Amino acid sequence: MSLLVVGSVAFDGIESPYGKVDKTIGGAATYFAVAASYFTHVNLVGIVGDDFSEKDAEIFRGRHIDTDGLERATGKSFFWAGRYSENLNERVTLTTELNVFAEFKPKLPEKYKKSKYAFLANIAPDLQRDVLHQVKERPKLVALDTMNYWIERTNSELKETLKHIDILVINDSETRELSNEHNLLRAAKHIFKLGPSTLVVKRGEYGAMLVDKRGVFCVPAFPLEEPHDPTGAGDSFAGGFMGYLAGARQKNDGALRRAMVYGSVMGSFTVEKFGLDRLRHLKRSEIHARARHFSKLTQFKL
Ligand code: AMP
Repeated sequence: MSLLVVGSVAFDGIESPYGKVDKTIGGAATYFAVAASYFTHVNLVGIVGDDFSEKDAEIFRGRHIDTDGLERATGKSFFWAGRYSENLNERVTLTTELNVFAEFKPKLPEKYKKSKYAFLANIAPDLQRDVLHQVKERPKLVALDTMNYWIERTNSELKETLKHIDILVINDSETRELSNEHNLLRAAKHIFKLGPSTLVVKRGEYGAMLVDKRGVFCVPAFPLEEPHDPTGAGDSFAGGFMGYLAGARQKNDGALRRAMVYGSVMGSFTVEKFGLDRLRHLKRSEIHARARHFSKLTQFKL
């Protein structure tokens, strides 16, 4: 079942207590697509500049990722740089250069227009809506991520886009900022009035929480002794979550719970090494083994 994703394909500069890289492949759509491709076929929509080489594009090769929707433009690719605190829990953005993204007008290849699942990764809300409108039949499931950058700069455009989606996948501080509610359950009630019927809150080392009309489901983050770089963990979570749902062709309560576990599994692999170094070299057996480990982690008898 094909899963459409639109979002940033970028170069990142990352500083963490475990090391520093000046320029590595990143971007929300990149992490999402690589994570999701372990579960389903992915249709990628994005833009890169002429500094993005054939060698860079190898990240997408040999996987179930269609890159016909990845436009190449003259100029520089999106660039983002960030620095993590000693405990990796806080991150400051040092640079955001939109570059070719500033003029991006997404155009879906014909074959993408039948995608049954869609993920609108963290980009300008107008672009997210534009991509969704190009899909011919309304997909079975549409999820969206955003961040403080868009909540603050393009709030009314974001609210318009939210009317058209099913699942909002954001982190805890963004949830609070968007809803003006500190309590996450009250925030969920507020967000349901904006359009989405399901809220998934990514909570870093505290795991993730899903809220819908049936109630609440929580997964922990996988306990790691030596996390190295949290960049892209949220997008990898979303890739595992949506990839699982598209691959399973289900969206009932049981499937959503398993999707939360696979999301957490993919996020945990990403933080083990810098950039995409761990995520890109996974075996399916490692993914399923870690999912079984999650089951052990959370089982108890009363
Ligand atoms: P995450 O750690 O899950 O928040 O995602 C980090 C990725 O998001 C990095 O690889 C960045 O290239 C990308 N990113 C950072 N800021 C933005 C932005 N304003 N719009 C789109 N992508 C971004």
